[in-house]
Amino acid sequence: MAKKKAKPPSPDAYSIHSQLIHGRSRDEHWDYRHHVVPPLSSSSTYRLEGASRGARGFAEFAQEQHDPEKRRKAPIYIYDRLAEPTRDMLEEALALSEQGQACVTFATGMAAIAAALGICVFSGHHIAAHRTIYGSTYSLMTQWFPKLKISTTFADFTRPGALERALRPTTRAIYLESPANPNLQLVDIAAARRAADAVNAKRRERDRIRIVVDNTFATPFCQRPLTLGADLVVHSLTKNICGFGTDMGGAAIGSYRDQSALLSYRKDFGGVLSPKGAWPILVHGVPTLSLRVRHQERTAHEVAGFLEQHPAIARVLYPGLPTFPQYELARRQMVDYDGNFAPGNMVYFIVKGPHAKARARAERLIDRLARDAYTITLAVSLGQVRTLVEHPSSMTHSSVPLDKQVKEGIDPGGVRISIGLEDPRDLIQDLRKALAGI
Ligand SMILES: *Cc1c(COP(=O)(O)O)cnc(C)c1O
Repeated sequence: MAKKKAKPPSPDAYSIHSQLIHGRSRDEHWDYRHHVVPPLSSSSTYRLEGASRGARGFAEFAQEQHDPEKRRKAPIYIYDRLAEPTRDMLEEALALSEQGQACVTFATGMAAIAAALGICVFSGHHIAAHRTIYGSTYSLMTQWFPKLKISTTFADFTRPGALERALRPTTRAIYLESPANPNLQLVDIAAARRAADAVNAKRRERDRIRIVVDNTFATPFCQRPLTLGADLVVHSLTKNICGFGTDMGGAAIGSYRDQSALLSYRKDFGGVLSPKGAWPILVHGVPTLSLRVRHQERTAHEVAGFLEQHPAIARVLYPGLPTFPQYELARRQMVDYDGNFAPGNMVYFIVKGPHAKARARAERLIDRLARDAYTITLAVSLGQVRTLVEHPSSMTHSSVPLDKQVKEGIDPGGVRISIGLEDPRDLIQDLRKALAGI
């Protein structure tokens, strides 16, 4: 006779920091109970033992999981595209990190964004989006959604009343990034909630406007949009959640009801995160997120302070600087798990001079960094252990025509830095050398 299993300790009595390291590693997703690190599972299909177990597995797939008893039951795995243990564990950790009910992961951030919007808006519907957003999200909304008769209005949500004016009877989603890429502009998420509620009060439940927030720049360590009123949060896991620059992934986090819809969407559109991609994010990325971001923030502060004093630089935008135009909102909205101000690891600065000259200078600076710097790498992407720099006007945001860039919040002389884990003195030394006489 097998001995009765001892009840494992409840993670709920511990802080989020510790839970993000240990997860629910003794729960039923993980039946390798003698491994300390979850094994990298790799099985595209699962033995079902009998017709009734197979039938139950299919019947239970993508059901709403409100009942905690039901959630604790060992899942019946059928096929990787439906559900898979490594990914399930990552999803539990990410739901916890965002203080949401449930998470569904995807192959990339873009797959997650397409899915989150895919369950909120259908043919004939409308999206109200903040004007400054990730390039591929912009082209999803301007190139592909119109073919499905889904239209988007872009507005500057930082202006009073702009969000309200962008809403129409057919609007089903408000979409935003905060901080936005690349200029780190913030959108007041609680205010967006109030605007949506005012309209939703007069609508039937299925016609209500949902708020979708891309929280990639902040990371859940610095900001939890669901607690501020968002309905769904999306992430590019490729960035600071993976953190080491080794893997791509995406996630959408929200309620149990959204989880059901997202699982079903993912099953049929097929953009699953492979377990081999989920594993490094689960084992290396999530457990070190708070440690990395806390360290990066301290360095970002020092680097931003240095840049602010530099004679070749016109402006530095970092939510942690008291000179940041939305500093008060930053302090209210960007808060870590312990209640500390958490302005993140992204810094944006604008080189001095009229537009054409500033652009040439910024390009010169980037070229010098690429050639001479040891601690700063010219590369797109962000949120890694290595500091990365890029020039949005000629790189990530070059799809916006030059004459429209300033209006869209992209300065020709703007440079974006993603702060890594290097010694701040080394970063400052490399920047000082590259900035001399540009
Ligand atoms: C990178 C990024 C994305 C897209 O993520 P992928 O993993 O590259 O698909 C979306 N939003 C923001 C803010 C990003 O930085």
